[in-house]
Amino acid sequence: MDPVDIVSLTRSLVDIDSTTGREGECGRWLADYLRSRGWFVNEQRVDDTRFNVLASVEQNSKVAQNFSSAIVFSTHFDCVPSFFPSRVEGDKLFGRGSCDAKGILAAQVAAAEQLRRDGESRIGLVFVVGEERGSDGARVANDAAHGSGSRFLINGEPTDNRLGLATRGILRLRLRASGRAVHSSFPELGESAIDKLIDALIELRGIPMPSDAVLGQTHYTVGLISGGVAPNVVSAAAEAEVMFRTTSDAAEVRRAVTPLERLVSIEHVLEVPPVRLKTVPGFDTAVFPYTTDIPFLPTWGDPLLFGPGSIHVAHTADEWVSIAELHAAVGHYVTLARALIRQA
Ligand SMILES: [Zn+2]
Repeated sequence: MDPVDIVSLTRSLVDIDSTTGREGECGRWLADYLRSRGWFVNEQRVDDTRFNVLASVEQNSKVAQNFSSAIVFSTHFDCVPSFFPSRVEGDKLFGRGSCDAKGILAAQVAAAEQLRRDGESRIGLVFVVGEERGSDGARVANDAAHGSGSRFLINGEPTDNRLGLATRGILRLRLRASGRAVHSSFPELGESAIDKLIDALIELRGIPMPSDAVLGQTHYTVGLISGGVAPNVVSAAAEAEVMFRTTSDAAEVRRAVTPLERLVSIEHVLEVPPVRLKTVPGFDTAVFPYTTDIPFLPTWGDPLLFGPGSIHVAHTADEWVSIAELHAAVGHYVTLARALIRQA
């Protein structure tokens, strides 16, 4: 069989709109493509219209045995909005998902096929939906019956072809202030929720945040803020959502912010832990401030993170990936897998 045409595969995937929530058509195309190239494919249902695409070299009666493979390559085929189709200009392949993560997916398929041609059968593919909004695909894919045989998970996100040492976690907290509404000509009769929220956010700036030798200092963004009903009413309610990029156990951050409870109530919205990643010698390495599907895929073995493309162009209005980098990634993925197979 011909080697995978990585540009054509990436463009075919990019040209199907798979904005998170509408991955069905792209999943069907990908499953058919892999079947046409001799992979045994399992469409793993996530909801009524969406499914993960799991593939293995050898068919077995039980899916679990398919993945007594040592190594799985994994990434996601959903994208952030807004969809725009592919085009090539010189070395740049543009299009939504070209960088994050359909070019990566194509490079992983090309690498897996090269390993398969060389007689390696213990290779699997785990392509999931929903990474960009809550990782529902990865949570389903983590079903222990599927992953239990796998020793190593090579997850793909844009790392500029560097091997990840660690990724930051996430902690989202909602700060809610309540007050008492009165006519703003008599503010002393009321209680301003907005003032309390502002006081809490100013106090937050002065609270020392945990740091880690590898990942650095925990930082945060106040990404959402709302409150009040009218300019001439003392506000009865106000809230802000604060997103921390954590470098250690999120409980440390929650403890650090408890003094703010004098002013606001603190609601726990979401937590994803930071991750330490496995490395192999001979690769450039880096730490990454973003989170991935890896924390939701523990049954698939020790995680590694590697992918072509830059996180700085992912999610942008003119997302692109270097074609040379895509081709280089294929060789890197093969090298990584061989090093891991020796260990497995
Ligand atoms: Zn991604």
